[in-house]
Amino acid sequence: MRVWMIEKSRCTAALWLMLLGITLGGIWGRMPESRPVMSYVTAGSVVVIDAGHGGPDAGAIGVKGTAEKDISLALSEKLARALTQQGCIVICTRSGDEDLVKEDFSGNLLERKRADLQARADIANRNRAALFISVHLNADPSPRWSGAQTFYEAGSPAAELVGKAIQQQLQATLKNTRREALAAEEYFLMSATEMPAVFVEAGFLSNPKEEALLQDEAYQQQLAAAVARGITDGLKAAAGEEKRMLQPDQTQAEDRAIVRSARGGTRQQRIRQILAAAGITAGQELRHTGGVVLKTKRVHHTVGEQ
Ligand SMILES: [Zn+2]
Repeated sequence: MRVWMIEKSRCTAALWLMLLGITLGGIWGRMPESRPVMSYVTAGSVVVIDAGHGGPDAGAIGVKGTAEKDISLALSEKLARALTQQGCIVICTRSGDEDLVKEDFSGNLLERKRADLQARADIANRNRAALFISVHLNADPSPRWSGAQTFYEAGSPAAELVGKAIQQQLQATLKNTRREALAAEEYFLMSATEMPAVFVEAGFLSNPKEEALLQDEAYQQQLAAAVARGITDGLKAAAGEEKRMLQPDQTQAEDRAIVRSARGGTRQQRIRQILAAAGITAGQELRHTGGVVLKTKRVHHTVGEQ
């Protein structure tokens, strides 16, 4: 039985009862054929690279006046080249200093920003990308903060694998950040895209030293190569995960053994025996990946397979 435990859960009694019902329905009704699909193969994977901002939206401005939109584009182009060399099919949302809004757009700036972001998501959705990656630069009122950091879509195991792999490569390659990859829940682009999405904040333009580094061609090249390696590592890990999840015979045998082991008592007692045998304790939110996928807004962190 394959169950992912989710930390920080505070599910209500009603939700818990619903989970019990669905889980046992899955066990007793034998596993349906449908399984979570993450059809990644690194070579030939479509990756959409989104250079943050552009056109009237300059993004953050560095201490010496560097515009985020220019560095995000330079990094994205280098990343596109590196990923292509690794066999990915790369689509960039922009290739010049522009946003993705039609010339005759008449809304206000906020509406324009929303239309721009939606157009970026549409490109990824239309092309059924395996991954959406948006490249940005950070800025803070204080000049002391520095370091590249990756954010991944909360609740997407594949985005988490890719995000963490990118951050690992950034740490190992640049040797100037100990920041960890973090889950993000409130990025419009992450909810508007239908595939796993990650954001790389490639460094702080508000830090004079890092601003200078980010303008340096060789540093940009190093950074882009690290992100590319992280993406392929992460996609490979996600593909491995998919393969492991596609072992229905083994899963069904495990499930049948668990169900057989629960004997006697009331229905409720048998339910408890089965859940205990599967390593599930009441109060934990769970997703049963053996054909029953529960999507919850409250997924914070995937602990791992039991
Ligand atoms: Zn930005």
